Amino acid sequence: MELADIEAALAPQYSKFHARRIFDSVYAQRSFDASVMPESLRFAFQPGELKESARYESSDGTVRYLMQLADGKTVETVFMTEGSRDTICISSQVGCPVDCKFCLTALMGLERNLTAGEIVGQVLHVMHRHDLAPKNRTMNIVMMGQGEPLMNLDNVLKATRILVDQRGIGMGERRICLSTSGLIPKIEELGRAKIRPRLAISLNASSEEQRMEIMPITQKWHLAELLETCRRFPLKPKEHIFFEYVMLGDFNDSEADAERVVKLLAGMTCKMNLIPLNPGPGIPFTTPSDERVDRFQKIIMQSIPCYVRKPRGRDIYAACGQLNRMNQESSLVQVMA
Ligand code: SAH
Ligand code: SF4
Repeated sequence: MELADIEAALAPQYSKFHARRIFDSVYAQRSFDASVMPESLRFAFQPGELKESARYESSDGTVRYLMQLADGKTVETVFMTEGSRDTICISSQVGCPVDCKFCLTALMGLERNLTAGEIVGQVLHVMHRHDLAPKNRTMNIVMMGQGEPLMNLDNVLKATRILVDQRGIGMGERRICLSTSGLIPKIEELGRAKIRPRLAISLNASSEEQRMEIMPITQKWHLAELLETCRRFPLKPKEHIFFEYVMLGDFNDSEADAERVVKLLAGMTCKMNLIPLNPGPGIPFTTPSDERVDRFQKIIMQSIPCYVRKPRGRDIYAACGQLNRMNQESSLVQVMA
């Protein structure tokens, strides 16, 4: 609930003052104090909480949480820390209906959308577990866990408004980013939102035909139109679009691919993240060698800032595209909550 939702739920019996105390207790104090609740509502109206059903720690410090929702379903939330910078990767759906051929989440199909509360609840849980406060350290949120956030845009936007409310959690709007497989009308709708995450597009290919093979959603939302939509996207000052590119060995990682990508993105205010494939059971692709990734990056860098995303938490199946409730792997050391 946003503050206005709590006010509406309490009205006319209780004042805005009560609503503000509840909002403060849930989002700013992050340890709910039942005494802020008007007595007659104490049983009817309680803050929801996600249950940590498992926690896996990587040798690189990344922690993957399996969070249980009220109906028993689970989603993943990943915490990464490096220097003074923390990143929380959250899920927006249980599973994902988009059938990308390199992604383990795709194998789950879609079970359901998360509510705004379940999206924010993941952040609150990780903040509580790691004692985080956005005011003390650089804290980023990426909507890159399970799911296609633009298929759940209303709840994603509501969660974003709650996350950036300075009376509560107080995230910087610029520190929240969502990644999409490229749903054109929803990208346009995102652009019209007053408060919204930044936009990352999973490009992943250097041509329409190639993208079609690994991201069948391209049949519906064609690459050329997707890039046109990105060119028209209303950027805020100092904002740019991120393009992500999963590198698949001998499929989309050649010098010719890099040159085509440069042409596709010419003139755009953008940056690029290369993500060498994180492998998984049933994924029919290989991870390119460091040399190939380097060569590709150098070509892109001549026109666009381009970074290689370091795999985080591969050993615990926490890296991009690996979120699929993997908890039976013998290589995993499960740290009980
Ligand atoms: N559904 C959204 C966000 C979640 S996926 C999207 O697809 O954009 C987050 C990122 O991980 C995307 O850029 C996706 O292309 C990438 N990804 C998926 N599977 C991967 C894998 N096996 N290895 C590396 N990156 C992967
Ligand atoms: Fe869904 Fe993103 Fe995985 Fe594609 S890459 S299946 S859109 S989570």
